[in-house]
Amino acid sequence: MLGMAENAKSAVKAMARHIEAICAFHGIRMKSHRSGLADQDLREIHIRPVRSEVTYAIALHEIGHLLGPWQRSVSLLEEAGAWYWARKNALQWTPRMEKTLVASLKSYVVWFAARDEVPAPKPGHPSWKMLKLAGIRPPRRRKSAVAKASPKPRGRRK
Ligand SMILES: [Zn+2]
Repeated sequence: MLGMAENAKSAVKAMARHIEAICAFHGIRMKSHRSGLADQDLREIHIRPVRSEVTYAIALHEIGHLLGPWQRSVSLLEEAGAWYWARKNALQWTPRMEKTLVASLKSYVVWFAARDEVPAPKPGHPSWKMLKLAGIRPPRRRKSAVAKASPKPRGRRK
């Protein structure tokens, strides 16, 4: 189906132009790099050229580190905020882009969990909309969380 391939091609071209337009409008310098990075102080993003939905999603995510919510806070929240911004500002948000988002957030959750420091924003914080996608849930109450972590021994007292 040539028609569809052509459509996809022009959609990706529009995505690449969209990234260029956002960067021009917000005075963000774009540099070509193999892995994504955002420098808030230099107002710079390092991204791979936008040639697919995935590279587009990642480019939006890196811009989200400059323009999105919850930046300069706990890293997991920064990641959630950058993805929040990416999804909100994308020309279109496809299943592949959502997959990229979920995989990326999950990798951060795993990274923090390994260090036993999954940061938990307050229940009701808008970031939970994103963090839930990565499989973590807001704590119900501090008390019950602590009780779960160290259950009292039963039937035995010292
Ligand atoms: Zn990020």
